Amino acid sequence: KFSAVPLAQPIEVFELTRSYNEDNFINKVNLGVGAYRDEHCEPWVLPVVRQAEQALANDDSLNKEYLPCLGIDAFSKAATLQLLGNDCQALRENRAFGIQSLSGTGCLRVGAEFLHSQLGCSVFYFSNPTWGNHKLIFKNAGFTDAREYRYWSQSSRRLDFKGLLEDLNNAPENSVIILHAVAHNPTGCDPTEEQWMEIANVMEARKLFCFFDCAYQGFASGDLDKDAWAVRYFVSRGFEMVVAQSFAKNFGLYNERIGNLTVVVKDPAFIPHIKSQFTLVIRGMYSNPPSHGARIIAYILNNPDLYEQWKLAVKTMADRIILMRKELRGALERFQAPGSWDHITTQIGMFSYTGLNEAQSEYMVKKHHIYMLKSGRISMAGLTLKNIEYVASAIVDSLTN
Ligand code: PMP
Repeated sequence: KFSAVPLAQPIEVFELTRSYNEDNFINKVNLGVGAYRDEHCEPWVLPVVRQAEQALANDDSLNKEYLPCLGIDAFSKAATLQLLGNDCQALRENRAFGIQSLSGTGCLRVGAEFLHSQLGCSVFYFSNPTWGNHKLIFKNAGFTDAREYRYWSQSSRRLDFKGLLEDLNNAPENSVIILHAVAHNPTGCDPTEEQWMEIANVMEARKLFCFFDCAYQGFASGDLDKDAWAVRYFVSRGFEMVVAQSFAKNFGLYNERIGNLTVVVKDPAFIPHIKSQFTLVIRGMYSNPPSHGARIIAYILNNPDLYEQWKLAVKTMADRIILMRKELRGALERFQAPGSWDHITTQIGMFSYTGLNEAQSEYMVKKHHIYMLKSGRISMAGLTLKNIEYVASAIVDSLTN
């Protein structure tokens, strides 16, 4: 039987990391994976996370019993508040709640399965381009009709806003639209506030369901509230929605798999029903979530001092990335790389969509040992003051050879 199993395509970003790890070249650079690195190119465990872990390790009242299917309340309440903000009317009216799940991916999967099984949704739209996992997650959750909405214009290197609105306008009612809440992956290009307002108008008029994917809150501007603007705006407009909130990046808790699925509804009377159905979705998938990441985050978000420290750490990460953008653009211009490079500094969040095509991106890997996706996406967090000139000169070489 097993001999009938076909070989699946490798996952590009994990393949890149594997090749990078096997590469002995001294000046190799990993710009593939979307994980923060400090100025020495090392993974960073946030000091406030270490502090919380030490306190939790010394707390004898904590045990290893199963959590409820929907996770730890102190975590999901704090996470939901963190996303929706203190002034949120839906929160005051008890119309919003959170569910602990397995990082952003788990939230997307649980949310999608609920929308498919309970609301009868089968069509979903993702931006072209988008994060490589959206399609697989929604298909595995039962969605049968995957469609793209236009997002990026390669020729102008900016948002194809006209195309985006046209595609949403033509979407059938009840389609689920995946919207990147902030710091679009991979383009690093978000709609402006005015454009979000227009998107909301179309979504409302066409009765489309919004599923926000919020994986980078804080990473765009360094300000957690500012980066939640789009989600908060849609909530203030009265939309019912779900939001997949990942804490992989902004807490640096990548392998703890901790996320929160925020659900906003119109009528709080139905929340017990909704929660009961989410419980069944989760029960049948992984029964209940792990505790470590949720305890860390609950501990930090519910302690004013630690919360301030966390905000500073997020700003430190965002600021370093913003500095790398400035430095990379500067180096490219100094080296007279053909073309214009203002998009490096106007794009936001963890990634830059460099504009390098597939052949040029592969050349960067093969010739210069600079690991990046074929789409031309690079993770800015992989750059440091030490490697930036090497990367810039390699980009020039890939464009001119
Ligand atoms: N959505 C987007 C757009 C992402 O870039 C990521 C992380 N690469 C995720 C969701 C989810 O990641 P995780 O499951 O690690 O939280």
